[in-house]
Formats: sequence, C-alpha cells, structure tokens
Amino acid sequence: MQIAIASGKGGTGKTTVTVNLALALSSSIQVTLADCDVEEPNLHLFFSGQAEEEEVTVLVPEIDTGTCILCGKCGQFCRYGALIVLKDQVLQYPKLCHSCGGCSMVCPTGSISERSEVVGVLHRSNPEPSLRLITGTLCEGSIHTTTVIRAVRNQFNPEDLVLLDAPPGTACAAMETLEGCDFCLLVTEPTPFGLHDLTLIYKLAQLYHIPVGVVINRSDTTDSIVEFFCRDQNIPILMHIPFDRTIALQQGSGQIISRADPKWREQFFKLGQDCITLAGVR
Ligand code: SF4
Ligand code: SF4
Repeated sequence: MQIAIASGKGGTGKTTVTVNLALALSSSIQVTLADCDVEEPNLHLFFSGQAEEEEVTVLVPEIDTGTCILCGKCGQFCRYGALIVLKDQVLQYPKLCHSCGGCSMVCPTGSISERSEVVGVLHRSNPEPSLRLITGTLCEGSIHTTTVIRAVRNQFNPEDLVLLDAPPGTACAAMETLEGCDFCLLVTEPTPFGLHDLTLIYKLAQLYHIPVGVVINRSDTTDSIVEFFCRDQNIPILMHIPFDRTIALQQGSGQIISRADPKWREQFFKLGQDCITLAGVR
C-alpha cells in the first residue's frame, strides 16, 4: 500500500506529518519511508545512521567527431537545445538532454553513441528496526527530477507499506509521486494561501482518482476556512495540529514529537490507521 503525503505549497508542515506518521506506524508495522522531494530532501535530517548509496544515471549522446559530417540533423531533431550544430563543431549540453535517444536515430553516419550521466543519488538506510528510509537526491542543475523519483519508487516491494513524502506543488514531480498511490494525505494550514494550494493539490489527487484526507497544521481559530471547503467536498479532516510553541521548538531542533510524547505517537498512529482504512475502501 502506498500513501503519499502532499501539500500544494512548501512550508505547511508536510515533513513534520510524514516523519511522525512513519515513526508511529513503524512501532508495529514494517514501513518504507520514501523522500520523493528530490530537489530538497530533508527526511534524513531527523534520523541517524549510515546509508548505502547508488547513483541514478541516464543515457546522453556522445559524438564521434572523426565521423561526424556536421549535417545538422541531430541539432534540428533535439527540441531541448541539448545539441547545437555549428559549421565547425557540435556543441553539447548534457544537462539539457532528456535522454530520448532520437539524435542517434537520425544521425546518417552513426556518429552518435550513448554514455551514462549521473543525475541523482539514492540513499538507503534502516534508521529504526521497522523503518526503511529511501532518499532520492537530484544532482545540482539536473532536469531529471522525475527520473530520480522513479528510481526511488523502483525500490519498493509490493508488500511494503510505503509513505511517500511528495514534493510541494502540483508540477511533474508531484504528479510522478502521486501516480499509483492508494491514498493521499493533504497537509495544509488555515490561511487563504493554504486553502488555495490545498484546492490545487486536491484537484491533482482527483485526477488520479486517489482518495484523500486532510491534516490541518498550525490549527487555530481560523480553521473554518479549510473546514468549509472540506465539508463541501466531503473530504475527511483526520487531524488538527495546534499552532503551539512547544511543537515548533521541538521540530526546529530536529526532534520528532511522536518520539518525545506518547500522546502524539498515539495520535499519529491513529492517523496512519485512518489512512490505511480510507485507502482500503477505494
Ligand atoms: S537524446 Fe534526445 S534530448 Fe538528448 S540530445 Fe539527443 S535528441 Fe536531444
Ligand atoms: S546528425 Fe550525426 S553527422 Fe549530423 S551533425 Fe549530428 S552527429 Fe554529426
């Protein structure tokens, strides 16, 4: 079963919810925690321990200048500007290459072969006895966000309970993370901006027919702004996390509130059970 934790924007407390949910559930279930926010992964900051690494690579073209006749066909074909054919050389920009392989197919002299380019790194660790952490990290300047997320997803076993920390927003990276999930937990805050972004991520989950539930973080007297929307759309609100200085301080110092406080561990465990139950009725 795969449960995504998502938000329409950054800074809503999505990481707080993900880490606490993973820790609470792993007290009685084997959990795989996947950091799919590959441009800015941060779940590993809450856990210690060594991780094994594996490079994520893609194929990019390599041009044999000895046989290239500078015909220009590869440059005309590449819609991403990764190859530019000048009158005396071919300029290559491997970071712009989408690895479609088309340039080598149109080359009339067979001058284009392929080589591996590292676009990201996977880190695998077991920070808790029943918790496996998989982190994807995109290389600086690389465009292969979805490739690295796919590499993270390829690490899952079918029988795993997987929690996927989705990248904030509703762009390709969030889509790649949500696709195929059984449930999506939407983390928001009770502000007009929070509601706006909640609406967007909810629409994305609807596009994939994924059942959702909401966590209101920094809950206070303005919760009704989100509650009206949820009631109107028939979305269950599964948890309120209060706007509380103690929680903020604990989180800010890298502590996990469900580790420090059994009351919170219980609440996050219940949240996890609710997600599993709601995913099951899909
Ligand atoms: S593999 Fe595709 S994207 Fe990359 S340089 Fe060739 S044509 Fe462009
Ligand atoms: S298509 Fe082949 S021959 Fe033509 S410019 Fe590109 S690499 Fe050279």
